[in-house]
Amino acid sequence: MAKSTITLASGHEMPLVGFGLWKVPKETTADTVYNAIKAGYRLFDGAYDYQNEREAGEGIRRAISDGLVTREEIFITTKLWNNYHRREHALAMARKQNEAWGLGYIDLYLIHFPVALEYIPAAELEFPAWWMDKERSVVKTDRVPIRETWEALESVVDEGIVRSIGVSNFQTQSLYDILTYNRRPISGLQIEHHPYLVQRDLVAMAQEKGIAITAYSSFGPQSFLELPAVFSEKAKGISLLFDNEVIQKLSAKYAVTPAQVLLRWATQRGIAVIPKSNNPARLAQNLDVLGFDLTQDEIESINALDKGLRFNDPGFYLPNHPLRIF
Ligand code: NAD
Repeated sequence: MAKSTITLASGHEMPLVGFGLWKVPKETTADTVYNAIKAGYRLFDGAYDYQNEREAGEGIRRAISDGLVTREEIFITTKLWNNYHRREHALAMARKQNEAWGLGYIDLYLIHFPVALEYIPAAELEFPAWWMDKERSVVKTDRVPIRETWEALESVVDEGIVRSIGVSNFQTQSLYDILTYNRRPISGLQIEHHPYLVQRDLVAMAQEKGIAITAYSSFGPQSFLELPAVFSEKAKGISLLFDNEVIQKLSAKYAVTPAQVLLRWATQRGIAVIPKSNNPARLAQNLDVLGFDLTQDEIESINALDKGLRFNDPGFYLPNHPLRIF
């Protein structure tokens, strides 16, 4: 069996397969997380934006007190939302989010997107994070350099509430830039990554620099079809990766599901995955993706499906396209 963890630049180990918490309803999050731990999951991928950190932490604490796992065996990733990029806000949010999880520390803390939005006052931190103001009418950016936010993240590592830090949805230019001043390593880069959006240069650059990649939306259009109109628009009419001939052939050859082929294509290249499912059979199969190896030619045949097609693109789904970050 292949190695099931990846060593981060910070020196900490991160599981290669985890569970994504986006779109998991608050009401069921604690039970979902508890059951995922029972099924063998050790990495949970959260975000302030997903509005279920407290409940996820509750599920983990219950599993710890029932003796299923120890805190050290669990790895939590979470993210700083765009309204909190200023130093003092980033520090306050890291502390607040750490308290919400209630597990003593956060394993990996990421800057969610490379764009700063106007601050929403602390009293309203329960505001469901989104791209717009409270009235959901305008996107207001703020003049905060990434450097300020990155250095705030380094400070929360100094404080001991975060073990490793990284970024999400960044491209190579801003990674190269951070590498000119960082005091602590960029341990993780989380990106949309599936056969329709391979991002070969970004993946190569991150791996050359020792930045561990985590892929999100590994099944491509699948995740976006369940969202309201403007978010699903790009995914509609695109053939499902599960039905793709190349994926289907490999699924038959290795007697695994198409989902397992897609996840193995990533993990075999040292890229972590964080699929989400509420279905127990899928939960188990998504975790079981290290037990077979694709050939190099087969990996290339999947790479060749690349269409440069990005589904999580605020430059597309925000009204009037006020942000073009990709
Ligand atoms: P996903 O790739 O996990 O896909 C989820 C969809 O696939 C759901 O419809 C689910 O029912 C279905 N599915 C799951 N397992 C399956 C299986 N074995 N067979 C068939 N269908 C299956 O998509 P996602 O939720 O977009 O991404 C995963 C995680 O990545 C999120 O939960 C979140 O934690 C993270 N994420 C991060 C960002 C970011 O900006 N950093 C953006 C999106 C998602």
